[in-house]
Amino acid sequence: MRILVHTCCADCLLKVWKSWSKESFEVVGYFYNPNIHPRSEYQSRLAAVREVAKELEIEMIIPDWRPKEFFEAIEGNKGRCEKCWKLRIEKTAEQARNKHFDCFSTTLLASKHQDQKKITCLGKTAGNRLGVKFETPGKMTDEPTSGFYKQFFCGCVDSLKERFEEKYYTRD
Ligand code: SF4
Repeated sequence: MRILVHTCCADCLLKVWKSWSKESFEVVGYFYNPNIHPRSEYQSRLAAVREVAKELEIEMIIPDWRPKEFFEAIEGNKGRCEKCWKLRIEKTAEQARNKHFDCFSTTLLASKHQDQKKITCLGKTAGNRLGVKFETPGKMTDEPTSGFYKQFFCGCVDSLKERFEEKYYTRD
């Protein structure tokens, strides 16, 4: 079974790969993340993903970085995370259908910072609409990973701002 996996970062890729490789899936990664800002951050995450993918011999599909697609998708900023997940999941489902994969998924399911229920629901809805199965990984490893760049904020400008506010400006 060939699975196209939307890949948000190296750490999560490693976690889901371990789960799927045990089940004999052939994993291909799809680094579609127009939400990541600034460009230097995008490049750092991409470099880490390339490193891990090379080590694990995972083929990667890497479209151009187009932040405009993210800003258009989250228009008004209300419910921005759900819109952000939806954008990335739907693009992955389209790619999976167009490139004749057996199924698709996302490494967002490896992150405890994201809403797993909502992401699964978005994946199933996109899969049903486009006729490609959305897969969820089995038990993922909790082992700490190291040796590559790890981000300290979710990805978008707002999440960076929120992280700085938490770190430097929250005082009693
Ligand atoms: S906080 Fe994370 S999930 Fe939410 S909009 Fe920003 S990058 Fe996307």
